[in-house]
Amino acid sequence: MHIRKLLGVGFIAFWFFLSACATTRSVHHGSFSPQRMPGKADSRQMANVRVALFQNVPRLRIGARGPVKIYDMSSRAVIDEASLGEETQFTVHAQQFVINGRTLLAQKIRLVPNNNDDALKVNGLRYRGQLELTCVARGGILAVNFVPVEDYLKGVVPNEVLYTWPVEALKAQAVAARTFTLSRMGASSEHADYDVEAGTNSQVYRGLDSEREATNRAVEASAHLVATYQGRFISAFYHSNCGGHTADVRHVWGSDTPYLKGVVCGFCDDSPHAVWSLALSRSELVSALAQRNIKTIQSLEMVGRLPDGRALSLEIRHDGVNEVMKAAAFRMLVGPERLKSTNFEISPSTKNVVFKGRGWGHGVGLCQEGACGLARAGYGFNEILQFYYPGSDIQVWE
Ligand SMILES: [Zn+2]
Repeated sequence: MHIRKLLGVGFIAFWFFLSACATTRSVHHGSFSPQRMPGKADSRQMANVRVALFQNVPRLRIGARGPVKIYDMSSRAVIDEASLGEETQFTVHAQQFVINGRTLLAQKIRLVPNNNDDALKVNGLRYRGQLELTCVARGGILAVNFVPVEDYLKGVVPNEVLYTWPVEALKAQAVAARTFTLSRMGASSEHADYDVEAGTNSQVYRGLDSEREATNRAVEASAHLVATYQGRFISAFYHSNCGGHTADVRHVWGSDTPYLKGVVCGFCDDSPHAVWSLALSRSELVSALAQRNIKTIQSLEMVGRLPDGRALSLEIRHDGVNEVMKAAAFRMLVGPERLKSTNFEISPSTKNVVFKGRGWGHGVGLCQEGACGLARAGYGFNEILQFYYPGSDIQVWE
């Protein structure tokens, strides 16, 4: 569907949704048959993503229902078969692993359940697949889950969106998360030992215990589908709520990407994270900016606003000097969970500085709450993705 057409119909549908939140309506769509992406025929069956669960922790509690083989990854030989039970403590001493007081002569080990279907419980959460542990600096452990991409996605989607959302929004999220993952797996990573992290730096992944039937069905219904631009995986960024207009990636991270230029959303205005406010005392503000050597603040003003409504920069008068800071950098210093977006107004008062804002997240790519609004208005996952990533295609990855 052409983007303009979608936008026009969408606004009508959006008002319909506002007045009848609990109902959905059918919108006629053309047939959808994605093309195949060229690649090795069996690569998708083989692909494991490497997810860093814990980095540089002093100990881990690991359990498994059945026996687990332990491989030394330097020789690739099995060096132990352990019954870990509900919980066994793993620590490091002199760059070697210690399990229940027993030393394993290895710096990098892989835990593989004898039964493929057994999950490994790591610090209280169960994960599918295998677990690789590496001794890192100062006696710490890096724990990386090796898990098939489709299984990994089942542990991501319910942590990124609400499993109660309409299925087309869940499928759109699954395709975006799959595309993001595969693009990271292909990238020459700065981290040799893993592809993605388990938290908000990549995508929130909490394994088997977080899975929900509805999100598993959405992953399966969209299995192997990815979003592409000119035949390559897109950088499928997404965020919670765009505040009315998604961001041009150029203003956020500097790169110029044709399918990440920002669109008028309008499908997230009535959602939980559409508006917010944050009051910071002068001393809280100073402590947030302490690493920039700011000790006293005389004034704080917005300088420049982007066409999408987001702040461009702030002028901070402090300690007798004027400093101009990018709004995105300011947000990171204050904390992205507190200052939820760069789309805000500043209302200074004598006591507090009050930020009144819209949306949550960097604003680039797919707006999750907007995707929910589009799905409730009757749009399919492919239309949702092509709305937020204009010019992209949906293809079968193999
Ligand atoms: Zn939005």
